[in-house]
Amino acid sequence: MLEKRTKIISEPLESSLPIRLDLRSWPEVESYLKQCKGVILPIGSTEQHGPTGAIGTDALTAEAVGLELGRLTGIFVTPVQAFGMAEHHLGFPGTMSLKPTTLINVINDLVLSLAQNGFERIFFVNGHGGNIAPLKAAFHQIYSNAINQNLPVASNLRLKLANWFMVPEVFQEARKLYGDREGQHATPSEIALTLHLFPSLLDKHLPLPAPAPVGPINNHQDFRARYPDGRMGSDPYLAKPLHGKILLEIAAKSLSKQLLTFLEES
Ligand SMILES: [Zn+2]
Repeated sequence: MLEKRTKIISEPLESSLPIRLDLRSWPEVESYLKQCKGVILPIGSTEQHGPTGAIGTDALTAEAVGLELGRLTGIFVTPVQAFGMAEHHLGFPGTMSLKPTTLINVINDLVLSLAQNGFERIFFVNGHGGNIAPLKAAFHQIYSNAINQNLPVASNLRLKLANWFMVPEVFQEARKLYGDREGQHATPSEIALTLHLFPSLLDKHLPLPAPAPVGPINNHQDFRARYPDGRMGSDPYLAKPLHGKILLEIAAKSLSKQLLTFLEES
């Protein structure tokens, strides 16, 4: 797999367009599969991100990191799964959540679709903490289903979860930039990435009373009562578009090492 993948990487990639699965035809995907069995699947969430953050923050950031990772490695990137498990944010308008069991089944169906036609390595770039538990549960369901359905790739199927915001180098940079005002939700690091991607978001990027509270996550009514403006411990006003560019580069570079190792694993 290494030789074949290296050949893909050596192609000059002037933009992310060549690695977008949704811009490829099926014969192109079939020919890619003869060289590489890996694919990147970005997953985020559509949920409130404080009074000044975009509802799509987790999906937009996961997609951007996934595409940059694809651009660096030549590995195809699927469309982003923009809806995640965001039950605790349902007290805020604009949030669109999948129940944990629904998300598990969605991931199951998407991965088995890819696996049925020969994809063996699915690398999830995740942008939302609430997706972690359902994704891990889904992986075990998928492994069993692949065997039970006698998929030819079942014994070689491998699934990997990479949370871009938890990459150690990203975490360190966020700490350096924002200290403990990074917080846990509607963080300046994720908001910075959206400002880099969509400068028009600067129009609503206004100072907020600090600090936002921190604490547990229970039901959505309790969440809104504890965290009235939606933030958890964060000061997103510290975010700057340039920070987002830097964080994107750090995340993609670090994840590219993880991805290449994953593609080589037995
Ligand atoms: Zn988020």
